[in-house]
Amino acid sequence: MKPLIELTRENIWKLKPYSSARDEYGEGGAKVFLDANENPYNSPYNRYPDPAQRKLKAALAKVKGVKEEQIFLGNGSDEAIDMAYRCFTRPGTDNVVAIEPTYGMYKVCADINDVEYRKVLLDEKFQVTADRLLDACDGKTKLIWICSPNNPTGNNINRDEIVKTITGFEGIVIVDEAYSDFSKERPFRLDIDKYPNLIVLNTFSKAWGCAAIRLGMAFARKEIVDIFNKVKYPYNVNGLTQRQALEMLKEPYEIDKWVKIILLERSRMVEAVGMLGFCKTIYRTDSNFILVKVDDAQKIYNYLKDKGIIVRNRTTVSLCGDCLRITIGSKGENNELLSALRQY
Ligand SMILES: *Cc1c(COP(=O)(O)O)cnc(C)c1O
Repeated sequence: MKPLIELTRENIWKLKPYSSARDEYGEGGAKVFLDANENPYNSPYNRYPDPAQRKLKAALAKVKGVKEEQIFLGNGSDEAIDMAYRCFTRPGTDNVVAIEPTYGMYKVCADINDVEYRKVLLDEKFQVTADRLLDACDGKTKLIWICSPNNPTGNNINRDEIVKTITGFEGIVIVDEAYSDFSKERPFRLDIDKYPNLIVLNTFSKAWGCAAIRLGMAFARKEIVDIFNKVKYPYNVNGLTQRQALEMLKEPYEIDKWVKIILLERSRMVEAVGMLGFCKTIYRTDSNFILVKVDDAQKIYNYLKDKGIIVRNRTTVSLCGDCLRITIGSKGENNELLSALRQY
């Protein structure tokens, strides 16, 4: 890869971050805090949260199998996605490459940051080769986005091709593993020591059942995490979120249990939906949702909506004509959907 100093925006490389009162002090053993102009009443909400999220990172490092200094925490993965643009891409000059179709936020953040977004269409098996991704790059390509398992297609992107992309690219490759808990594939998160130009995204919003608290993670080598930390808002992860995430991390087995049940339900749904007359294809899934090609997606979508059941109509997305994306819910929710579809 190119040296980080070359990949990073010059103003960001030179940036001296804001230093907050709590930054300088951290979570040490002091008993009187008169440094941050807080109100002494209304504990615990009166205190600013730890800007470096030290306790949370220590717990996460164990569960995720990475080092504390290799973790960036943000207000959802969405913050980490935006961070990659703001740190590495120059508005109006640089570009990024991404698989298509994929998660919509990569493109939205490119547009917000005025960065050219180059799409590489997946093949009919929803796969891509490293050669095709690398062919779309030029000297001004800073980032390549790969989502695996991919949203909305649901499948893993071929591991060897991801590795070839990472090792063959001069810039930074971001692998979004929001759904990796539902996949049997070894997560790339565990390989960040091996690839200096790799950033892996994880989230509390899916398998961890915490979409409301807005907590996303980026794993990368320390030098990249340090750049993100310099640019983020000082208190970007609020105290309630840090507290709830720590609670969740005490019971990782609970999450394993949810994932197992969801995977059982997924098999059941694949089979049951596949038997419906209007179902043309159910694509391979490594996530907690299924992508289904049907006879008339808009009509079925409207029909379900009238019954109070909302699925995601993906018919206007590339390669997803007449496709519905259906999340695997609880057993009861899945049964409601099935019984509605059987009456269609
Ligand atoms: C749901 C999802 C996320 C999660 O985003 P958060 O901001 O962490 O809620 C990230 N990436 C993909 C591909 C997703 O589908």
